Amino acid sequence: KQNVGIIGAGIGGLALAIRLAKKGFNVTVFEKNSYPGGKLSELKINGFRFDKGPSLLTMPNLIEELSNSNDSQRKFEYKKLDTITHYFYSDGTQLKASSNVDDFAEEVHLKLNEKKESVLKHIKRNAFYFKTTEDLFLKQSLHQIRNFINFKTIKGILCAPFLGLFSTMHNKNNKIFVNPKTVQLFNRYATYNGSNPYKAPALMNMISHLEINLGAYLPVKGMHQITTHLVNLAKDSGVTINYNSLVETLLVESNNTISSIKTNGLSYSFDIVASDVDIHVLYNHLLPKKFTPKKLMAQQKSSSAFVFYWGINKEFPSLGLHNILFSEDYKKEFDYLFSKQYPTEDPTVYINITSKYCKEDAPNGCENWFVMVNVPHNSSASIGYASDLRKNVIAKINSMLKTDIEQHIIAESSLSPLDIENQTSSLGGSLYGNASNNKFAAFLRHSNYSSSIKNLYLVGGSVHPGGGIPLCLLSAKITSNLITKRAN
Ligand code: FAD
Repeated sequence: KQNVGIIGAGIGGLALAIRLAKKGFNVTVFEKNSYPGGKLSELKINGFRFDKGPSLLTMPNLIEELSNSNDSQRKFEYKKLDTITHYFYSDGTQLKASSNVDDFAEEVHLKLNEKKESVLKHIKRNAFYFKTTEDLFLKQSLHQIRNFINFKTIKGILCAPFLGLFSTMHNKNNKIFVNPKTVQLFNRYATYNGSNPYKAPALMNMISHLEINLGAYLPVKGMHQITTHLVNLAKDSGVTINYNSLVETLLVESNNTISSIKTNGLSYSFDIVASDVDIHVLYNHLLPKKFTPKKLMAQQKSSSAFVFYWGINKEFPSLGLHNILFSEDYKKEFDYLFSKQYPTEDPTVYINITSKYCKEDAPNGCENWFVMVNVPHNSSASIGYASDLRKNVIAKINSMLKTDIEQHIIAESSLSPLDIENQTSSLGGSLYGNASNNKFAAFLRHSNYSSSIKNLYLVGGSVHPGGGIPLCLLSAKITSNLITKRAN
């Protein structure tokens, strides 16, 4: 049996550990925190439970496929949402995005005066983008020439002129829709991988396909159930997870092979090493400088987030699980986010309330509000604007929901980019590794293996195919296939 050491128990590392253990490898995971899940962890305060990071689940099949189909005890239980998002605009317009595509298009027609056919056509085009490129970009290593020589990949390449690489998400959406509010709604999908819709290629409009066509889901006990489920599967498969084990160094021999992992003053030998940590940690702290891939490291990072966790002593029937209170000037918001490195005074505010579905997440008559604003991937700057941001968020919620929210907050905590960086080591607190703010971004993510160190593999949000739960799980699949092929 070959021994594999994995650094980091984020969902990428856990999913890789499960896949490899099932294929017969001896797997040991080293996690610096005392808990698993990395960005996908949870927080409990005064009777309220919060998912700390991700709130939206798409493609749950990628989690299901990690379980043995005959093991009913380890079934991953989740619900498909009927209403995906409640949208609020500052002029009072409200829109409920149904999971039924036809109803959604009808609602956009009624509330935003778009032609229903334009909405349906756009949704169809985004499905085409996804289906044409998923084999090329999401299911295999993008860095091995042989992967380009198969029918589906060649088809994807031949379709390139029709894939919206030469326009931006915004320009495409702006051409299709008459109402700027519809453009804003569809531009928002850029934030699902921490990008800027005014820069990201129109191909990225395909992100909306995952939610609108394939559906949005919630695990029955909230998002943290994903982490719990993966940890259980890992244990069932014989994986050893060592917590409080900060990996300090990877010892590289003269034949460019890692011989051991050093943590807590001890060295552990492995045949194969896989890293689920941000590539900046890997290259700046764990490996000798000569291996640093400077061009890849210089790519623009995705945005970060500032989250306020509020226990609210009241129920708001107008809100659902996912709620968006849009800013008035979206362009300005993204200019601030990616150029000025400061959140605007009128940010888009996202409110996630799992207690709408998971009653035990808040005491009776109360709600658990996860209030999030997209902010720059700059950890030190966040200390300076934190209190202004809180004031601006409260002012926005009060004006749009006609309330005085501060008097209803009975429990509180927060998560800044600096906290994200400290807790998960992602550079500047970026949520999704590199941003997709140019058409070459997909090719400028780190590959799932090292080209200079023979037994080093990479997984997770900072490598191919990118950040977010589905892509991290896909990276685990790609990396596991690469390691298995090498071993055979
Ligand atoms: P991480 O979760 O970053 O885990 C890396 C692990 O490595 C951590 O546990 C860390 O402690 C450990 N580590 C680091 N250095 C070392 C070391 N030297 N030694 C040992 N261990 C180390 N995604 C979605 O799909 N939907 C969403 O709605 C969504 N919203 C988000 C909201 C927020 C606020 C955040 C923070 C993220 C969100 N994401 C969302 C992104 C998603 O959480 C991430 O893409 C994903 O969880 C990243 O998983 P990972 O395995 O790459 O790494």
